Amino acid sequence: MKIGVLALQGAVREHIHLLNQAGAEATAVKRAEQLQDLDGLIIPGGESTAIAKLMNQYQLKEPILNMHQQGKPIFGTCAGLILVANQVEGLTEPHLNLIDIAVKRNAFGRQKESFEADLSIEGVGDNFTAVFIRAPYIERVGPEVHILAKMDGKIVAARQGTVMGAAFHPELTDDLRVHQYFVNMVKDSLVANSLK
Ligand code: GLN
Repeated sequence: MKIGVLALQGAVREHIHLLNQAGAEATAVKRAEQLQDLDGLIIPGGESTAIAKLMNQYQLKEPILNMHQQGKPIFGTCAGLILVANQVEGLTEPHLNLIDIAVKRNAFGRQKESFEADLSIEGVGDNFTAVFIRAPYIERVGPEVHILAKMDGKIVAARQGTVMGAAFHPELTDDLRVHQYFVNMVKDSLVANSLK
């Protein structure tokens, strides 16, 4: 099983480390042709506008959408969450439009630029120390979307089929559980796709 981490910006090495620990072969990807060999993809945090620009420049949008059409799981964290959403406050067009959620950028305000919170995440477990950095939150979810976690009443993790998004940075802790959850999603998709 091979999972890629989009290496345009952000904590790529940390994601790779945790994916390896969770039993997956993980690799940093930057070029369109590298995406074809993958079974799943993580889009890390950073600055969503900058990542979107680079994604267009390197022509990565189509191959990522193709991965999605082939049923390969995609996980967006923080800026990655903004990139997978189908609606972003203040933007007329979404970026990748992979999950039926509306997100608000930098949504926790200035006084709370970065903080940690203890989350209960469905399917993952309790007491997950989530690191939030100029984080977005999810303002609306569509009927197909499953809410996985909330913080102070705000939705901070959700999943729709093979697409997952989290407002926080699961790679900035030693806790494997969120990456393990994603690795299991990829395992399940390999079984489901082999039965097609
Ligand atoms: N505020 C960033 C954005 O809007 C996201 C921050 C992050 O990924 N840590 O893209």
